[in-house]
Amino acid sequence: MNLENLPLRSHIHDGFTVEGYSRAAVQTYWRIPELKLGFDMGASPWSFMGTPTFFITHAHLDHMAALPSFVARRRMMKMEPPTIYLPAQVVEHVDRMLKSWHKLDRGRMLCNLVPVIPGEEYELSREHVVTAYPTKHTVPSVGYIVWERRKKLKAEFLGLSGQEIRDIRLGGTEVSEETRIPLVSYTGDTAPPGLDADPANFQAKILITEMTFFRPEHRKEKIHKFGHMHLDDILARADQFQNELIILGHFSTRYHDNQISKAIDKALPENLRGRVELWL
Ligand SMILES: [Zn+2]
Repeated sequence: MNLENLPLRSHIHDGFTVEGYSRAAVQTYWRIPELKLGFDMGASPWSFMGTPTFFITHAHLDHMAALPSFVARRRMMKMEPPTIYLPAQVVEHVDRMLKSWHKLDRGRMLCNLVPVIPGEEYELSREHVVTAYPTKHTVPSVGYIVWERRKKLKAEFLGLSGQEIRDIRLGGTEVSEETRIPLVSYTGDTAPPGLDADPANFQAKILITEMTFFRPEHRKEKIHKFGHMHLDDILARADQFQNELIILGHFSTRYHDNQISKAIDKALPENLRGRVELWL
């Protein structure tokens, strides 16, 4: 159900549905229902209400304005208070903003705000953990990687029988170790150093990132200074992307959709074209 008529696209890749919309200065919101989490909240389609956990990259309005409505809706619908991860520097202000809304709307704003620090990790469940990395924007900002973790038999025990392994384990030795697979990385708004901040950004199954500008005449120094990326930044890293799917979004509103797809299709090298999804 999309009662507000908010733009919403979706793309399924290997069992994960990426839903959302992202356009610079308009609004950005994403979610992956199978992981029960979303990123940013410039707006919040009615259907997103069922997702209990959101990771906010930065506090610009087009990435966070819908937070009070989202929190209030979940309460109105008698759902558990959501958990919102956000850069540690903005938690106090966001808490105050929600308290103001409590007064204005006369409804309690129940949610769990978790301060995020780049380099730290946050446990979601037995199978999933999220790490945060620094990004470069004009306000405090972070990017997120969702990892799947699995228990794997340690290499030294690989040749043994089930009985032998059981005996070793009962003897008190840890036979398994944890392996991690980066599933999704979301950079939010960032200049190139955000993309380069964690090598797993290039290995994640799905990379969701931004390409705000693509025209050759747009000056890159200026774009980087304002915490964004240009087509050339993606092209310069073409050989690094091992991702199965690369979603490029957050295009400037000064471009028309067909201009964007035409120019980018033409510029992308063969090894990227099949894996890139332009989010228009
Ligand atoms: Zn921004």
